[in-house]
Amino acid sequence: MPENLTTLSQSSLQDYQDCPRRFELRYLQRLAYPAIETEPALENEKHQQEGEYFHRLAQQHLIGIPAEQVGRLANTENLQRWWGNFQDFRSLGDFGSLYPEITLSAPLGKFRLVAKYDLIAIEKDRAVIFDWKTYRKRPKNEWIHVRWQTRVYRALLAKAGAHLNSGSPFTPEQIEMVYWFAEFPAEPAKFPYKADQFKRDWDALTKIAEEISHAATSAGSTSLTMNFPKTDEVSKCSYCPYRSYCNRGVRAGDAADAELETEAEELFDVNFEQIGEIGF
Ligand code: SF4
Repeated sequence: MPENLTTLSQSSLQDYQDCPRRFELRYLQRLAYPAIETEPALENEKHQQEGEYFHRLAQQHLIGIPAEQVGRLANTENLQRWWGNFQDFRSLGDFGSLYPEITLSAPLGKFRLVAKYDLIAIEKDRAVIFDWKTYRKRPKNEWIHVRWQTRVYRALLAKAGAHLNSGSPFTPEQIEMVYWFAEFPAEPAKFPYKADQFKRDWDALTKIAEEISHAATSAGSTSLTMNFPKTDEVSKCSYCPYRSYCNRGVRAGDAADAELETEAEELFDVNFEQIGEIGF
């Protein structure tokens, strides 16, 4: 097993599922993940930075900094609108005990499965996972449901969340995941969980971890390119930052679609100290 591949996350698993070659370039070769080349470039980069900054504002408020104080940092039109929507959302009810920006992990085969949550809220015997999204398009629930994020976040909370529940693991039925869309505040996507889904998810995670481990370990004897082939679905390439490495065209895809397909990995790519210094 290569030394630099010790953890798996929803993002790396999604990359592996979408295109093994992208996984290899990003997580084994560690090629810098270039900015998504969509047009207009500057506007898209700003939108992405605003999304990251919004996460920081939400987190600061959730750890106890008053809304008025945090709201003063919402210094662009988008941020002001999202922040306003977030205030309305928060005033809807009591979220119980809040764990913002919490990281959970558990062994998964030869790896550790790691996830950083925007918020886990515990209310009595229920755990609700919240994830903030600043997408320009509201994705369909069917699309979100099968993403690795939805599967990993719920499964990992069932597996590794006992310390948030007085030492007893949450049963899958006690867990729900809610995606809240800053642009579509009245249309959150909610995904409850069940024991048979948890079993299916954990079995699938174990299988994919074994497959990745095998591909990465046997790469010395064959070649990485053979073990991590390019996707047959050429449409995936329209949004992929590695197009130039793969001779898969130069035309960039639509920016709003790209942000769904190649969302940055919040756990590893976002440096909050740097984000704090971004000016708009
Ligand atoms: S350009 Fe296409 S084949 Fe190459 S890494 Fe990206 S998705 Fe995979």
